Amino acid sequence: MLIGRIFGIPLRVDWSWIIVFTLFVVMLSQAGGPFETIAPQWRLGVAAITVLLLFVCVLIHEASHASVGRLYGIPTHDITLFAFGGVSHMENTGVTPGQQAAIAAAGPLASFAIAALSALVAYLAPWPTLAQIAGYLALMNVVLGVFNLLPSYPLDGGRIVHALVWKLRNSRTKATEFISVFSTVIGFMLMGFAVLLFFTGAVVSGIWIALIAWFVMRSAKSEWTVELLTGPLGHTHCADVMDPVTERLEPDVSCSQAMQTMLTAQRRVVPITHDERLLGLATLSDFGKLGERDPNGVPVSEVMTPYSDLIRVAPSTTALDAVKRLGDSAHAQLPVVDASQSLQGFVTRETFMRILAFAQEQRKKPSLPPGVLPG
Ligand SMILES: [Zn+2]
Repeated sequence: MLIGRIFGIPLRVDWSWIIVFTLFVVMLSQAGGPFETIAPQWRLGVAAITVLLLFVCVLIHEASHASVGRLYGIPTHDITLFAFGGVSHMENTGVTPGQQAAIAAAGPLASFAIAALSALVAYLAPWPTLAQIAGYLALMNVVLGVFNLLPSYPLDGGRIVHALVWKLRNSRTKATEFISVFSTVIGFMLMGFAVLLFFTGAVVSGIWIALIAWFVMRSAKSEWTVELLTGPLGHTHCADVMDPVTERLEPDVSCSQAMQTMLTAQRRVVPITHDERLLGLATLSDFGKLGERDPNGVPVSEVMTPYSDLIRVAPSTTALDAVKRLGDSAHAQLPVVDASQSLQGFVTRETFMRILAFAQEQRKKPSLPPGVLPG
C-alpha cells in the first residue's frame, strides 16, 4: 500500500504492519503495560501516539539506509514497512562490499542515535507522560537496532556479514550462498528458543520470537532465489551477449520487398537503417498498417515503428535492466544502440536464458581460473 514519498522514494506499508499497529496499541494501553500510571481514558490515545512515533523511528532507520546509498549514487526503488521494521529496496548492482556494509550499518546506528536522544528527552522531560513515551521509544529503538543486527539476511546484520564474506572470498554469489544457509541456521536456532520460551510459560514472547524466526527463514530463501536469478544478469552487459545484426533494410525499400526479405530470412523483425543509423523496426504485424494500399508502392519507413517510439538499450546496459525493459516493450527483442544511434545488435529472451543457463553450468563445475571460459 503506497502511503507517500520520502526524498522522492515511494513509501509502502505491508498489510502486516496494520495488524501489528493495532496489536501494539491494544497491548500498550493495557493495565500492566508501560503506561499504566496514566489515567485509563488517556491510555489508548497515548499508546496510539507512541506507536505512530515508533513508525517514524522505523522510517528514519530506513531513510538512513537510503541516504547513505544515495551518497554512493545507489538509488533506492522503494521503502516498505513490515511488521518488524522496514526493507529498503535498493539497486544491488554496482555496489562494493564496503559500500554495502556502510549502507547496512547506517540503519542500526540511526536507531541507536534515536534511542540515545529519546533517553535524554525522558530524563529532562518536565511532564511524566512525555517522559514515559520517550522512555519507551528509547527502549524500542535499542530493540530495533539490536534486532536488525541479527546476522541473518536480509536484516542489516546479515548484510554486514554478507559484505564481509563477499570481501574475504571475493565472490558475491558465494557470499549469498553462505549467508542464506547461515540465516536458515539462525532461523532454526530462534525457532528452538521460541519453543523453549513457549514451554517455560513465556507464551507471548515465544510467539514473537517464532514469528521473527519464520520471517528470517522465509526472507533468506527468497533473497537467495533473487540473487541466483539477478546475480548473473546484473553482472553481464548487453554488448557481451547480444546477437549480431544479420539483415537490415534501407528506409526506401518497398513493403512487399521488406516482407519478402523477412519471410526468406525467417525473421519476425527487421531493422531499418541508413548510414549505420537505426531509423526504426519493422515487424510482420506492422504491415497491417498498409490497409488497402499497394505494398509495392509504400516504403517500409511508413509502416515501421519509428526510432523515437522504440524501447532500446545501450551496449553498457546490464542484462538485468534489459530484462525489465523487455517486459515494457511490445517487441520480442530489444535493439542495442550506441550513443550515435548506431545499431549494434539485439537482445532477446533467449539471450537472457543463455546467460542463466551458463551461470548454472558454472556453479556445477569446479571453479575455473579467472578469465578462462570453458570451450
Ligand atoms: Zn535496516
